[in-house]
Amino acid sequence: MIEIDPERLREAFDRYAAIGATENGGLHRLALSAADGEVRDAFVADLEALGLDVRVDGLGNVFGRREGRDSGADPVLIGSHLDSQPYGGRYDGQLGVLAALETLRALEDASVETDRPIEIVDWTNEEGARFKPALMGSEAYAGLADAEDALAVEDGDGTTVEEALESIGYRGDAPVGPDGDLHAYLELHVEQGPVLENEGVDIGVVEGIKGMSWLSATIRGEADHAGPSPMHTRADALVAAADVVGAVRRLSARLADDAVTTVGELTVEPGSINVIPSAATFTVDLRSYDDAAVARGVERVEAELEAACDREGTTYELSELWRIPHTEFSPRVCDVAAAAAAERGRTVRRLRGGAGHDASSLATLTEAGLVFVPSVGGKTHNEREFTEWTDVVAGVGVFAETVRRLADEASESA
Ligand SMILES: [Zn+2]
Repeated sequence: MIEIDPERLREAFDRYAAIGATENGGLHRLALSAADGEVRDAFVADLEALGLDVRVDGLGNVFGRREGRDSGADPVLIGSHLDSQPYGGRYDGQLGVLAALETLRALEDASVETDRPIEIVDWTNEEGARFKPALMGSEAYAGLADAEDALAVEDGDGTTVEEALESIGYRGDAPVGPDGDLHAYLELHVEQGPVLENEGVDIGVVEGIKGMSWLSATIRGEADHAGPSPMHTRADALVAAADVVGAVRRLSARLADDAVTTVGELTVEPGSINVIPSAATFTVDLRSYDDAAVARGVERVEAELEAACDREGTTYELSELWRIPHTEFSPRVCDVAAAAAAERGRTVRRLRGGAGHDASSLATLTEAGLVFVPSVGGKTHNEREFTEWTDVVAGVGVFAETVRRLADEASESA
């Protein structure tokens, strides 16, 4: 059984969390910002101190490779992301990268040579906060998105991904994508939901992740003076949008038991107290494990837009920004993680996740797995995001043991 060093893990966690730290104990480290550059430098220095072979690909994904007994064997890839949401938490992403780092350090401490090479990764722009969409680095790596397209994506100030990568020195020259088969991928992440905490369980073994659709809708009406314009003559874009927002909230119950629906962004034009709104633009986020339910949800949103615009005399445009099907993780990797948890005396619950992760991208390429540790109150994308340190230590211990087992698996079991 591989032993991790909780104090060394704590030191790394505090050191990384100080880069981009907020006054309220959170993390503000947007993808490819100066703070992201700084934490990447710390990560690369830690990998080099372990004697790993470091490479950076054209999208800034950072890899370190620890050789195995058979350097030609398909490697096990482990990691997560170091970028954060605006004023986000310290655990989302960062903990997964540090779990992977501690795993390699623990193997080194114990002079363990695994059969297979192990590669560690920090994926670029998992969050999708500064540059859309999310999962940018891992989707391009898995061939689900085009790396050239990703490089041209602009943030709100017109800076491209390519320019941002160059400004922090992480436009690498390795090709984007695996240079051979992978044996498995494993990621540790905070649950970002309340299930493990509510049930008092140590470890979540994630069997799959909901599919989702992101929509953008714009309703157009006519601006006019809020005083003299009679109510019956108005084409108020915000009134129509408000009807749709309410309908989206009620829609989830009709789609599927696990469906969740959210309007998270809304902008109104011209945005003046005494002007009838001429345009309202908003997003819709629809999720369910049932891909057909997501598809039905998209149709229902369009029907609600049509009905609301009929009533108000407005018009609409609807576009789908992103659709990803549900993810099923490898049952074999789930079993290995559950066995490792049992050996370490940790309780396990199998569950399905609601949030996208880099592991979802990797599941299209290889036998992928995702391990959750509890989140206090289920809070995330928030400075109050918190996981008890004892839960962190338990989770990283199970993660390390799972990685060791995967890296010693024979090819026949793949
Ligand atoms: Zn994350």
